[in-house]
Amino acid sequence: MEQLEGSRQRKKEGAKRRLHTRNRPQSLVIIALGGNSLLSAKKRFSFHQEMENVHSACLQIKNISQLGYRIVLTHGNGPQVGDILLQQKLARRLVPPMPLDVCGAQTQGELGYVIQRALRPLVHKPIITVLTQTVVDRKDPAFRNPTKFIGPFFSRKEPGMKKDSNRGYRKVVPSPEPLEIVESKEIQRLVQEDFIVIACGGGGIPVFKTAKGYEGAEAVIDKDLASERLAASLGAHILLILTDVECAYLDYGTPKQKPLRKLSLKEAEMLYKQGQFPPGSMGPKILASIRFLKHGGTRAVITSPEKAVLAIKGNAGTEITK
Ligand code: ADP
Ligand code: MG
Repeated sequence: MEQLEGSRQRKKEGAKRRLHTRNRPQSLVIIALGGNSLLSAKKRFSFHQEMENVHSACLQIKNISQLGYRIVLTHGNGPQVGDILLQQKLARRLVPPMPLDVCGAQTQGELGYVIQRALRPLVHKPIITVLTQTVVDRKDPAFRNPTKFIGPFFSRKEPGMKKDSNRGYRKVVPSPEPLEIVESKEIQRLVQEDFIVIACGGGGIPVFKTAKGYEGAEAVIDKDLASERLAASLGAHILLILTDVECAYLDYGTPKQKPLRKLSLKEAEMLYKQGQFPPGSMGPKILASIRFLKHGGTRAVITSPEKAVLAIKGNAGTEITK
């Protein structure tokens, strides 16, 4: 009798444990895919090429999902928004050009579709793209000093353009600080339901808060910094930034170049202040990592899509921890 009771008790506890394991929130990783790793800005545009690059990134995402992580994917849109601006320029006599926030929304649709299509046959979880807006401040100093060159080159100066080195005139827009992600609560609920969410494309559509709601801003947001805002608001454990280099380097591009494998938060801050990571490329990735750790994140990892699985296991890339 006692034996029977004991085995019943064990069975009950086993069931409880299984239920607990099932309900326990799995580690959440925010994976930021670089726009350039999806569609090379250097090569000519082809949808086929974009689909192929997304497909190989999705094979890695499948492996990360199989390791048991919950996943939110964010992505850049530099090359894609550049192409839309070029199309608008060429067709402007026939079709009215759309403002920049609308172009950003178009790229979220394009890449959301491509990623959903590539990922669906590979994973058994529901997948959804969330059109995402990111709040910026009208008083952000970036609005007084636009620095981000976007879109095609022109031979003559037109309104809103500046000279981009010796390559010609280009549209220059502000790149303000992302403050908060408008849809973070909706994304949180989808994550709790174990969806793979694609969000914050191109850093999110920049918007100002107004008395009545929101208004589109003529700006672009850095996708690494926006990914950090999303990661912090979701309480993510890992920020995994995938780009076209395997890791961050010390003295990058010089004969002294050395891969950085493991960094403490303090070391990363020191190297950032030394100017090892330039603005507009590796700088925002390191800054996003630093902010993420300061806002409760556990690990930030920077690597290429090919090394993503190795890196999440701690065996590749640059890993920054507290
Ligand atoms: P993404 O589209 O993924 O955001 P970026 O071009 O913005 O890519 O940033 C990645 C680039 O940063 C690399 O291709 C590399 O040329 C450049 N880079 C600048 N400094 C460094 C550094 N210290 N270590 C590694 N890469 C660096
Ligand atoms: Mg970038």
